Amino acid sequence: ATPLAISAGLRDALERGVVVTNESVFETAPDADVVVFDKTGTLTTGTMHVTDVAGSDETLRMAAAVERFASHPVAESILEATLTDSTGDRSRITTDGGVPDVEPEFRDDTAAERKLPDAEEFSRHPGEGVSATIGSRRVVVGTPDLVEREVGAIPQNLAAHVAAVDRQGGLPVVVGWDGRARGVVTIQDRERAEWESAIETVSDCEVVVLTGDDGASAERFRDHQAVDRVFAGVPPDGKLETVRRFVATGTTVMVGDGTNDAPALAAADLGIAMGDGTARAADAADVVVTDSDLTALEDVFALATGTRRRIR
Ligand code: ADP
Ligand code: MG
Repeated sequence: ATPLAISAGLRDALERGVVVTNESVFETAPDADVVVFDKTGTLTTGTMHVTDVAGSDETLRMAAAVERFASHPVAESILEATLTDSTGDRSRITTDGGVPDVEPEFRDDTAAERKLPDAEEFSRHPGEGVSATIGSRRVVVGTPDLVEREVGAIPQNLAAHVAAVDRQGGLPVVVGWDGRARGVVTIQDRERAEWESAIETVSDCEVVVLTGDDGASAERFRDHQAVDRVFAGVPPDGKLETVRRFVATGTTVMVGDGTNDAPALAAADLGIAMGDGTARAADAADVVVTDSDLTALEDVFALATGTRRRIR
């Protein structure tokens, strides 16, 4: 390999907001057989918004008191909702209606200001939700399965609500304590505007969508002609297993953003992390797309092909 071609490639990449941490990208990308996309935060913006709360009046407050300790787009949206809820003051919310433009440590002020109850013994249930103890209650926030397993049954009226939210492509976040589900927070994510054009640039490869969600928001991707396979309801360690299976049969690219994606990004022949993602995802990746714009994917592949041609 001529160092000159590689450094030219690295410079061109940087100009497009693409940081290459492993030069093997110039060898692997042009040979890719499979491109695996994480859904949430990668094909979608990952900036979610609460659009509805059903069930107990305490649902949103309990959820927020637990999510204060979490770092997930779901947590951001629930905290955002309590910020607007109690005062109607949206001055701290970004104009695009996105998540509050504040540092995570600000959440402590927010909690005090909004009089959220104190939560202790916070736990993460990766790919499923979170839980914590509030007073005498163990409060669980997450997927219907998680709440059913950790707390208890979902009453018929809430189960019907969950099914309706699911059908409409929303994400139902169930909140439960004291032996049963108490409420449902509905969250809506948005697909990135450029997702279709981005996956079409890799349509010579097998295109796979991988997600922890199952429901209409995952199923929707099956209908697209450029998507070959959708794996829905995949637990976080399932992402790693799926990528390993593809790696065993061909050159596999993984595109992801979150902490949960880090092992899969590392296991892929080429890991591409979206820049809004966590440091762990970026560390595990060979390429980081800093501005989180999926159109950079086209640049990665075009650059890699062009650079390899110059190397050889
Ligand atoms: P994806 O694979 O699509 O990026 P994740 O693996 O991060 O999604 O999460 C899968 C599902 O787990 C989410 O759709 C949500 O239902 C649930 N979940 C994850 N984190 C949280 C949280 N902090 N609060 C509530 N639910 C959560
Ligand atoms: Mg994700």
